[in-house]
Amino acid sequence: MSNRTFTMIKPDATEKGHTGAILKMINEAGFRIVAMKMTHLSRQKAGEFYAVHKERPFYGELVEFMSRGPITAAILEKENAVEDFRKLIGATNPAEAAEGTVRKLYASSIGENAIHGSDSDENAKIESDFFFSKLEQF
Ligand code: ATP
Ligand code: MG
Repeated sequence: MSNRTFTMIKPDATEKGHTGAILKMINEAGFRIVAMKMTHLSRQKAGEFYAVHKERPFYGELVEFMSRGPITAAILEKENAVEDFRKLIGATNPAEAAEGTVRKLYASSIGENAIHGSDSDENAKIESDFFFSKLEQF
């Protein structure tokens, strides 16, 4: 699994019509899409996905945001996928994100930051299995 990561294009980027442009950046950076779906998370599912942040002050806001509209979930394959994808998306806070990163281009705030990327191989596997059955992972 070390050559795979998981991503979500978040509701803010979906609302603004940036899905296609972000997928193009992902492809041009050398990632192969091995699973993909557009879906709308319930509050419960969004809460489960971000359960590690349950005790953080922004958890309620995060769950509201992530369940506010459709997202695009995908599994991506590339050598060194987790680390390289975090580089492509940039820092959590777009004010600190490097030039040319997805968040620099498309995020509006630390909360509404356009895209998710797994932070470890272990979490990439857990998050991929949260959205996709084995039959849906190519
Ligand atoms: P993600 O897990 O979505 O890829 P990340 O790993 O860069 O983002 P985390 O620390 O895991 O950042 O935070 C998860 C998400 O919670 C952030 O992407 C953001 O949407 C939200 N978040 C993080 N910090 C804050 C904050 N201080 N205020 C509001 N929302 C926040
Ligand atoms: Mg994270």
